[in-house]
Amino acid sequence: MGEPGGPREDGALRGHCLCGAVTLGLRVVAGAFVLCHCRQCRKSAGAPFQAVIPGRREAVTIDDPQGLVREYQSSPHKLRAFCARCGSPLYSRRDDSATLRLRAGLFDALGGHRPAAHIFATSAAEWEIIADTLPRHADIEPGREPGASTGEEVP
Ligand SMILES: [Zn+2]
Ligand SMILES: [Zn+2]
Repeated sequence: MGEPGGPREDGALRGHCLCGAVTLGLRVVAGAFVLCHCRQCRKSAGAPFQAVIPGRREAVTIDDPQGLVREYQSSPHKLRAFCARCGSPLYSRRDDSATLRLRAGLFDALGGHRPAAHIFATSAAEWEIIADTLPRHADIEPGREPGASTGEEVP
């Protein structure tokens, strides 16, 4: 049952990388769905922002039968995962946190979840046009778990 990219029988949202070798399942969204314009997210996406939807590690499944997931340490305690075959960004995480920050673009459907805010909006590329009315934060969104950011541009 279910459509590709949509909820499956276990209720999880499903996403996959460009080549299809890595599948992500997200059962419970654990925080704000945000659009991060920080320099690291821009570089890692090759795009004006990363769309980030968080899930606790225990609520996320990573199906990687070919062992293609790699984690790049982009700054102290911060890891950014990608598919070694196609290069799709998969998630980021801190090594001292149980939250995976999944890349929303991997999911064709997100069960009605919609972006709540722009973060690190002041780091946006000078050519970017932000034309919506979502809140724009200079740092991370208010209320994220303590320790999730030290104020660096590393969401
Ligand atoms: Zn891939
Ligand atoms: Zn970022």
